[in-house]
Amino acid sequence: MAIAEWRKQLELGEVSARELVDQKLSRIAEVENSLHAFLVVTADRARAEADRIDEARAAGEVLPPLAGIPLAIKDNLCTKGVKTTCSSRMLKNFVPPYESTVTERLWKSGAVLLGKTNLDEFAMGSSTETSAFGATSNPWNLKMVPGGSSGGSAAAVASGECLASLGSDTGGSIRQPASFCGVVGLKPTYGRVSRWGLVAFASSLDQVGPFANTVADAAEVLQVIAGADHRDSTCLEAPVPNYIEALSQPVTGLRIGLIKECFDQQGLSSAVKDSVMNAASHLQKLGIELVEVSCPRFNDGIATYYVIAPSEASANLARYDGVKYGYRSEDKDSLLSMTARSRAEGFGSEVQRRILIGTYALSAGYVDAYYKKAQQVRTLIRRDFDNAFQKVDLLLTPTSPSTAFASGAHLNDPLSMYISDLLTIPANLAGLPAISLPCGFDEKGLPIGVQLIANVLDESRLLQVSHQYEQTAKVMSRRPSAELIP
Ligand code: GLN
Repeated sequence: MAIAEWRKQLELGEVSARELVDQKLSRIAEVENSLHAFLVVTADRARAEADRIDEARAAGEVLPPLAGIPLAIKDNLCTKGVKTTCSSRMLKNFVPPYESTVTERLWKSGAVLLGKTNLDEFAMGSSTETSAFGATSNPWNLKMVPGGSSGGSAAAVASGECLASLGSDTGGSIRQPASFCGVVGLKPTYGRVSRWGLVAFASSLDQVGPFANTVADAAEVLQVIAGADHRDSTCLEAPVPNYIEALSQPVTGLRIGLIKECFDQQGLSSAVKDSVMNAASHLQKLGIELVEVSCPRFNDGIATYYVIAPSEASANLARYDGVKYGYRSEDKDSLLSMTARSRAEGFGSEVQRRILIGTYALSAGYVDAYYKKAQQVRTLIRRDFDNAFQKVDLLLTPTSPSTAFASGAHLNDPLSMYISDLLTIPANLAGLPAISLPCGFDEKGLPIGVQLIANVLDESRLLQVSHQYEQTAKVMSRRPSAELIP
């Protein structure tokens, strides 16, 4: 059921916030053994919050927009008093003394924290398999990965454990798992949403955004979390439009560009290609004009990202030194050996690989050849988008070249894992908003996602077209629930 529908029922007293929370907690109890979407479930806190909302309603108070809505939060967003681990041994026992801006805004709007969700360690990965606390499964097929790094948040929505959730997207970590799990995932414009309290991975790319069952639900969550924040200097001052009103604005006459370079990919599965092309023809039936556009540098995104993101990660992760906070090894020989051992024992291998690559790319003698060059290519990618948006309102691509892959399939081959973000990374490099929507299923019954990319701060248009596609194409008539119940 959609958030707007719950709100109506709650206001009419047809359902209580407590009933809704209890329903979600029993769904969690039913499926978590096979899914492992959550690292921690905050059941007592959720029940207490729900009771408070029911009391407020009984007392005739006006309820805030997300009153009683049970949400799951990726475990790289700081929640005051609730452990925030980033799925790393390094932060295994870290209890933040402060709340992230996005979650603070959600709680102020009445939303209820159900728990913290699993991710690839420090959000580095595409499968939620590098978590130090065990992998998450895909609710559509438990042998498949849910995508990553926000795999727990995507799986929790897909399986009905929560109504919506938050993830973070540095190179595709909201959109790729949304596509693998058959839900909606939105990465806002860089700076649209505050990063305060998001554990930093690559600060010029990281952005928080929602997962939801429907586009309207994603708009409800974005409405609350978007907007200026004096605690994040990269957060934009631009006023936040009414995203919910935008959903029903007419779409006829809009122009959508199909990025040529994406459809020529060697590794693009034919099921994905067909389904995405069907989605494009459906949009045409809604009165949208389709045009082919070229972004010649699009496919350089991945190489560029794997210099810039590890470079920023190596700087950001330097703070985990075994002294200030996080894991400390037993080594008492010297400060240097204690720090070295703490990092070797606290970080998993993918995180260590990123730190090594980033440190190398930034080192004297290499910084011009790698980091500076990557920043120059980043500018060229941004210019390709600027040119494309001279001609069209939105761009369309598949979200990922394939549907969900089998657990373990790419775990020992980092390059093959990195490829799954080929089509999502360019939007991060250019700071653009982008969404993944379910558009069909492959021959194995796994969901396929289509990606729409908009110009800077044009989330309204993204949501508007997505909503009208979703409401008329009606591809998500199935839910994965049957698979999960043993
Ligand atoms: N999969 C990409 C990576 O491993 C993107 C991760 C993300 O968006 N957080 O870096």
